[in-house]
Amino acid sequence: MDLQHWLREAARSQQRWADGFGPYATHPSLAVDDTRFAEVFGEFTERLRDNYPFFHPRYAGQMLKPPHPAAVVGYTTAMLINPNNHALDGGPATAEMEKEVVRQLAAMFGFTTHLGHLTTSGTVANLEALFVARELHPGQGIAYSTEAHYTHGRMCSVLGVEGHAVPVDDRGRMDLDALEELLRTGRVGTVVLTAGTTGLGAIDPVHRALPLREKYGVRIHVDAAYGGFFTLLAGAEGPAGLPEAPWRAVARCDSVVVDPHKHGLQPYGCGAVLFADPEVGRFYLHDSPYTYFTSTELHLGEISLECSRAGASAAALWLTFRLLPPTRDGLGQVLAAGRRAALRWTELIDASELLEVYQPPELDIVSFFPRVEPAALSTVDAASERMLRQGMSEDDPVFLSTLRASAGAFAARHPKVTADADGGRVLRSVLMKPESEHRVEWLHERVEILAGNPE
Ligand SMILES: *Cc1c(COP(=O)(O)O)cnc(C)c1O
Repeated sequence: MDLQHWLREAARSQQRWADGFGPYATHPSLAVDDTRFAEVFGEFTERLRDNYPFFHPRYAGQMLKPPHPAAVVGYTTAMLINPNNHALDGGPATAEMEKEVVRQLAAMFGFTTHLGHLTTSGTVANLEALFVARELHPGQGIAYSTEAHYTHGRMCSVLGVEGHAVPVDDRGRMDLDALEELLRTGRVGTVVLTAGTTGLGAIDPVHRALPLREKYGVRIHVDAAYGGFFTLLAGAEGPAGLPEAPWRAVARCDSVVVDPHKHGLQPYGCGAVLFADPEVGRFYLHDSPYTYFTSTELHLGEISLECSRAGASAAALWLTFRLLPPTRDGLGQVLAAGRRAALRWTELIDASELLEVYQPPELDIVSFFPRVEPAALSTVDAASERMLRQGMSEDDPVFLSTLRASAGAFAARHPKVTADADGGRVLRSVLMKPESEHRVEWLHERVEILAGNPE
C-alpha cells in the first residue's frame, strides 16, 4: 500500500468529517506559518536521523520494528480526532473497535469467556493481572521464573506483594519441581508463566504447570507479551510449526497478556490484558463524577487501571486486524517467516567454524557467540561486544544486540567454556521482520566476517 497516498487520505477523511459540523476559525494563538514550520521540521527530521534502521533486514538486534503502514494510517486518521478510550463518551467508535480487537485476541488464545482491554504497554497489562491476583489472594506472594521480564519483580514491590524468582532449566524454562517446592510452603497465591521469554524466547511449560493450580489453589497468569502471537503457529505444518501443548493450555489459565506493539505490527502504546473470568471486573469498580454517562454496560474505563488511553491505538489495531487478522493465514504468516529465518540462521551458525549457537530458538530469537581461544566467559564477552560495535561501524553495517548470560546459565549450555567471570555477553538477534527470511545468508556472512576479523 502507498503510505503517502493514504496519509493524505487520512487528513482528507478527517476534513470531510469536520466539514459536516460547519465552518470555524482556528485561534490565532495556535497559528504556525509554513515557512517557520519547514525550518523547524527540517531540524526535527535531522535529529531523527540519529536512530538505528529498525525497518531494514540489516537490523537484526532488539525486539524493534516499525508498525505496518495500515497501523500508521489507522493511528493517524483516528488521532486527528483524538478519541480517548477511557470511556464510551471519550469516543464511541474506537471504544467499539477496542472491544472487537480484544474479542479477536481472546479467540486467538481460545478463551471462551473473557474480560479485557488494551493498555499502554505490556508492563501495565501485567500490573493489572497481578493487581487482580493480589485482590484474589491477599497476603500471598507471586512466583515467576528468573528469566521472566524484570518488571514482574518491580510490580510486586509496587503492589506490596512478595515476589519469588523460581529457577529455570537448561533452556531457560521454569523448573516446575522448584516451583512445586515453593508452592508447598503456601506462601504463593499466583504463578506467572512466561510464554516466550524476552531474552531467548523460552516457553514455560504451561500445560505441565496447570495441574499445580488445582493442587495448590493458585492462579496462573501467562505473560505472553512478546510470544503471544506465536500461538497462531501452534500445531502448524512445516518447520515454523510449534508444539501445541503449552499454547493450547493458555486457554485454561486465569489471565494472559500480549503486546500488539511487539508482534502485532503496531506502534508503541499497545498492550493487552485478558481475564478468563469476567467477574474480576468488580475489583476495578469506581465512581468517577465526570465521565461515564452514555451507557449502562461496563465501560472500558471501568475495567482499566489507566484512565486516558489513545483511541488511536485501538483504531490502528482494528484496521490492521481487518487486513492481517490474528489467524494462522493472516498474521501467522508474518511470524512464520521470522521463525523460519531464525531456524535457518541457527543451522548456518551450527555448521560454522567461527560461531557457536548459544541456545536453539524456540521462537524467532537467535543467540550465538564467537568461538574464541581460550574459550572462557571473559573472552566470549569481549569478542561479542567487539562484534556488536564493529558490526555497526562498517560500511556495510549489521546491527546486532547482546544478551548477558550468567555463569550458571552458560555452564548449563556450554560446560566447556571456562567460567572465569560471573557472566558474559553473547550475541542475540530477534528476527521479527518477515524480510529477514530473505537475508539470512547475508546476515550470516557479515557476522562470520566480524568473527574472523578482529580489528
Ligand atoms: C516486552 C515484555 C514485557 C514488557 O512489556 P512493555 O510493553 O515493554 O512494557 C513484559 N513481559 C515480556 C515477556 C516482554 O517480552
